Amino acid sequence: MKKIISLALCVVMLAGCGLGAISASAQGFVYDETYVLGDVDGNGDQNGKDALALKATVSGTGGFVCIEDSADFNGDTSIDAKDSYLMKMCLSGSESFETLEGDYQLYKLTVGGNDITEYSIVIPADTDSENDNHHYAAMELSKYIGEATGFYVPVYRTDENTERHIYFHPVEPDSAEAKELELGLEGYIYKVENGEMHIYGTLRGNMYAAYEIIEEYLGIRFYSGERSYIYKNRTVDIPEGTDRYYEPRLNFRYVLHTFSVSTAEAFFFPRRMNGTNLYAYYEPYHGTLTGTLFLQSHSFVEQWQMATGTMPDESAGTLADRLYQKWQSGELKDWQTWQPCATDEKIYEKLFSGLLDFCIMMEARGHVLSQKYEYETYNMSFAINDNAHFCQCRNCRKLEKTEGYSGLYLEMGNKAVRDIQEYYPGLKISVSLYDYTIPATIRPHKDIIISYVAHACNNHILGTGDCGDNKTFLGRNNLEDEIAMKEWAALCRETGAEIWHFTWPVNYHYWLSPSPSVFDLYYNYNYLVNECGFTGILYEGSGATYNFESLKAYLASRLMWDTDMTYDEFIGHMKEYLYMHYGDGYEYVYEYLVMQNEAGDLAGCYSNNHARPFDMYSHDYLRENYDEMRGLILKAIEMCERDDSEYYLRTLLACCDFMGLSSSYKAMYVNGDSESRAVYEERYTEMYNFLKDNNLPISSHVVYTVPDKIDFTVDPMTQFYINGSWESSKLP
Ligand SMILES: [Zn+2]
Ligand SMILES: [Zn+2]
Repeated sequence: MKKIISLALCVVMLAGCGLGAISASAQGFVYDETYVLGDVDGNGDQNGKDALALKATVSGTGGFVCIEDSADFNGDTSIDAKDSYLMKMCLSGSESFETLEGDYQLYKLTVGGNDITEYSIVIPADTDSENDNHHYAAMELSKYIGEATGFYVPVYRTDENTERHIYFHPVEPDSAEAKELELGLEGYIYKVENGEMHIYGTLRGNMYAAYEIIEEYLGIRFYSGERSYIYKNRTVDIPEGTDRYYEPRLNFRYVLHTFSVSTAEAFFFPRRMNGTNLYAYYEPYHGTLTGTLFLQSHSFVEQWQMATGTMPDESAGTLADRLYQKWQSGELKDWQTWQPCATDEKIYEKLFSGLLDFCIMMEARGHVLSQKYEYETYNMSFAINDNAHFCQCRNCRKLEKTEGYSGLYLEMGNKAVRDIQEYYPGLKISVSLYDYTIPATIRPHKDIIISYVAHACNNHILGTGDCGDNKTFLGRNNLEDEIAMKEWAALCRETGAEIWHFTWPVNYHYWLSPSPSVFDLYYNYNYLVNECGFTGILYEGSGATYNFESLKAYLASRLMWDTDMTYDEFIGHMKEYLYMHYGDGYEYVYEYLVMQNEAGDLAGCYSNNHARPFDMYSHDYLRENYDEMRGLILKAIEMCERDDSEYYLRTLLACCDFMGLSSSYKAMYVNGDSESRAVYEERYTEMYNFLKDNNLPISSHVVYTVPDKIDFTVDPMTQFYINGSWESSKLP
């Protein structure tokens, strides 16, 4: 991999989207420059020496470096006399290197050996251009082939226009064909037979097949919402005999990160996410989404409000409007303290009527009707509020002894899912667990989806038992969770219910001090999916895009899609991301990342949601290795040739200095000599100015901001994150 020459911005208007939230998104492309035509020996110029190297290769003499892509002048994948001739023509000025190299990243794309320009994309004649996801898939494939090669493959409803074709075949998930092809809900097949390409997919399957082809063959990477990366290739063939089948194992895949939803067309869909936890507004054109509709996983407070509201008469507007007003007029309960009684029939009936009204409201808005409940896992929440104040009435307390509050509130969900079938056959109901007791007798109904919320310790890897006797300062660790997660997943498997894991591998409050849990992602997801059998994952990301938070979101999306990924593949994806994001010095960034995570591994049990910076890191490690860690980032900056990457590296440096200076405050400043103090002050000033100049937010919490003035006499941790986050007296 070599340098990247340019960065272009292209504004992509979202056609047929119809969403206020996403009216347009800017998608930039980063163009990789892995070779230059004619620079056969790769030393940076095109001259007689290159001609010599090429000639030696053609004649089989050997002894010269010959970069194949740089030598393949006619793009026919063989290096021969024709290439040697064209090289000579270029050197003599009769031909031009630039013209022969072409203007696009992919000089020649072929399907079964046939040039892509001979093809058209064919969609079924009855395709509805506004509502069919396979139409979107065809448009995406055409768009990105155009982006890579300059040739936008035309899309037709008939195959009469060209001799060769790429056919999209949408398959109904509950059809005999889907069963025969084993496509499940969103699987796909693509194959090349006699030079013709056929793509088969259920639900979103055609779209996912298109994105796989775009990544694997066109060399495009959807690595951040803002930018996509395009590798440079001389020739690529999708070979005759290609026969690829894939069906994702996780039914619900959702990375909730700063840009993942706002740049849906450049990140969310291409990264094959399908989940929503509330924002289920995507229409059939984008393949619809799976997850809770309209109400969050903590819905009782809203359902109560709906049930106690007053329905205005017909003059107040449409049915949807009137139900909305009814909801708004109802009784507000405190979501932080209130939970309904789990055994009072009257309370259940009230909440159920609220649930039903929300269903009717959503249906009236057109959302629900577009879903096919028989096979889609779209669902409504009927779940506890975001607190653990469970009902203390006599009946609840008595039953809780054997069933746990988990069982009592699950039973409410069971009831609701049975009752709702009369109105919306096939609709699933989701419930949340905050208490993980395994109920003695209560089991989830087959149409229940359980949201299993988080696990106790974010430092130790699930399934390893590494927490030992340690506990987070909330008094918990992973040992009980590991058992509970396995048992809950097994209960769900028995009845056919689903269980989704909600996880937050980020720290919400201390953005200059990220949760060092990047490598853990691999092992934890493996445990959740392959060991326990969770059927969905929600990754709750951060408001911060720096400090590897976006890397984590990217890797999480890859792990959710490819649940059989090996550890080496995981590291490969990580390094590729670091290369695309930070440029040529990415190996140094990787070393820095390894050290940052080592510093994390030396800390005890902690919970991301609450942990303070030095709960998550060993300050001894950061102090002892500060100069080395800093040096790695500086080396990466030296090698950087892109402005955007340099900015990301300098942000990383500021964060490294923040943690390094905070852990070295006593050694470098209080007990230091004049020389170490001078270094301390210089680095502090540089970090401070960078954060100020770039207006970098340092927390999701408004009380944490960069101070107005530098004060060298107090460590940065105390100054930036005071308010109980850290006490300077505890500094080493
Ligand atoms: Zn009760
Ligand atoms: Zn632990």
